[in-house]
Amino acid sequence: MTILGHLEKHPGTNPASFTSKLAHFEPTIVQFDRTEFYPSGGGQPADKGILSGEKFRCRVIDVQKSGSVVSHHISEIEGEPSIGEMLSCEIDVEWRNQLSAMHTAQHIISALSHEEWGAETVGNQIGFDKTRIDLKFENRELFSSEHLEEIVNWTLRKNLDVKMDFRPSKDLLDDPLVRVNMARMPPNIGIWRTISIGDIDVCPCAGTHVQTTREIPDIEITRVKSKGAGRLRVEYILNECYKSFN
Ligand SMILES: [Zn+2]
Repeated sequence: MTILGHLEKHPGTNPASFTSKLAHFEPTIVQFDRTEFYPSGGGQPADKGILSGEKFRCRVIDVQKSGSVVSHHISEIEGEPSIGEMLSCEIDVEWRNQLSAMHTAQHIISALSHEEWGAETVGNQIGFDKTRIDLKFENRELFSSEHLEEIVNWTLRKNLDVKMDFRPSKDLLDDPLVRVNMARMPPNIGIWRTISIGDIDVCPCAGTHVQTTREIPDIEITRVKSKGAGRLRVEYILNECYKSFN
């Protein structure tokens, strides 16, 4: 059931360390009974971090989710853990924060490209240093990267709240702020985790985000290149690293 009007803060920046019980261990993979590591998905890379136990320590270099199973791929392994042991888990905060800022900026760039030129986002790859978004236009000749950069940075400084909600598909189909084509989304999901940014965008998304747009430094569009008929690939960077106003 929908929880409209009950928007909450959601997991994003500054993830706390946690402990979790080891459920499965093989030379390069660890699984827990629960985890707060973000698995790779939706164009956003997985969290990284450190796991440690009584006689065990390793680095998490990738996290993949398959069904309900989350596998933490590990390296630099020292010692061996015991199944059932409580491990201390530390997510790389700098990595998570920067990707959350990059990812939230992507929502805004996609939304404003849709608003200004009717462009549809057909792909994206979030990165720590640079991010790319593939946009599909009716007429890509009208696109201006200078104008996009200007309206995105103006929007970022407006201190818009970024909030999470859970909404049913039919609700999203009727919402003009939903820019993604719901017909292309998996049909078997009835309730969507949605991210709304002020009054400019609503998007079904499982990624990590900042809490307010002012946490995102100005963006700079560094490259625009053709990706076939009507399509442009826009690459951007953040002018400085993530900063928190919390
Ligand atoms: Zn998102």
